[in-house]
Amino acid sequence: MKCPRCQNEDPRLFGYDKGTYYCRKCIAFSRVNIGDTIAPCVLSHRVWKGHPSLEYELTKYQKACSLQALKILQSGKDVFVYAAAGAGKTEITFESICAYLSQGKKVCFAISRRQVVLEIAARLRKAFPELSVVEVAQDYTSITDADLIVCTMHQLYRYPYGFDLLILDEVDAFPYAGNDLLEKLVELSCKGQKMYLSATPSLSMLEQMEKKTMEVVQLFQRPHGKPLIVPQVKEGSLFRQLILLFWFCVKCIRAHKQVLVFVPRKEDCAWLSFLLNRFFKARGIHSQTKEKDELLDRFRNRELDILVCTTLLERGITIGSVQVAVLEAQHAVFTTASLIQIFGRVGRTFKDPYGKGVCLCRYASPSVRQCVRILRQMNDSV
Ligand SMILES: [Zn+2]
Repeated sequence: MKCPRCQNEDPRLFGYDKGTYYCRKCIAFSRVNIGDTIAPCVLSHRVWKGHPSLEYELTKYQKACSLQALKILQSGKDVFVYAAAGAGKTEITFESICAYLSQGKKVCFAISRRQVVLEIAARLRKAFPELSVVEVAQDYTSITDADLIVCTMHQLYRYPYGFDLLILDEVDAFPYAGNDLLEKLVELSCKGQKMYLSATPSLSMLEQMEKKTMEVVQLFQRPHGKPLIVPQVKEGSLFRQLILLFWFCVKCIRAHKQVLVFVPRKEDCAWLSFLLNRFFKARGIHSQTKEKDELLDRFRNRELDILVCTTLLERGITIGSVQVAVLEAQHAVFTTASLIQIFGRVGRTFKDPYGKGVCLCRYASPSVRQCVRILRQMNDSV
């Protein structure tokens, strides 16, 4: 027996009900009976021969990467776009999106996290005002078809054989990384080519690139051409880290910059934001915070000086002129990939391409040292 959707063959993961077997492995998405064939989903198709409207023209690096990626896709292969955080990897997809839409083909953008789905959908709406864009995620499931679909990886179960071009962002992030059920859903929903995007590919992805089983396009240059921010690493006891953090915040706020402070645990958000709020306008945010969107808006509107957060905010968030500090950076939650993403929040905009990052830790862990090494390498290779 084999599940037609997730390819599960483990006998322990089949259920029996009224004469038919069904798959329990992927039942969270909907029930699939063994022996059923998965019918292709029905989606609208529209031929659209337009161009994106962009606030800034793409840099020559972005243009070159866009064309290179499209060429690989057109040869029928999948492509991996390996781009530094803030290098504008979303824009790299536009050339390919246009090419597929001009042939009436279906394009989908799938991302690990819901928060980023909403953000990317908003960016696509801006870039493609003539197209309908729909976000499909938890609490956003009443409409599931449009000219462009942006969804969480989980929602791909709705679209068997649906997409000619499936763009997968944050492939190295939870919950996609290492989740073989989601990988099967990706395979099933894509009948054409896949475009993977990441600033921090996993070891197995890097190996595939090395062995040339995966085509890669590299973009380490940010649109403004300024180097990536390499954090200063400062070691010391928690008490010393707090004093250094305090002065870092004072300096940033005097220079009219806001600060994102990353901490390892949710509990740290509470006490640290309480402490900092004695001196600055500070709040804490983590996955269980109720008014997440509201706090982020207040931070964006500069009503807050400091936002203390967990790795919840490590990806996909762009806030102008933000400086970044990490406290207790030796903690295991701060992997190399996560630190690279975190310091990638700094200096993302044309208005303010420079910035500061500080990595406070009891000792420089291998992840901290590797993060610094990779960022330097990326700067050297452009
Ligand atoms: Zn299944």
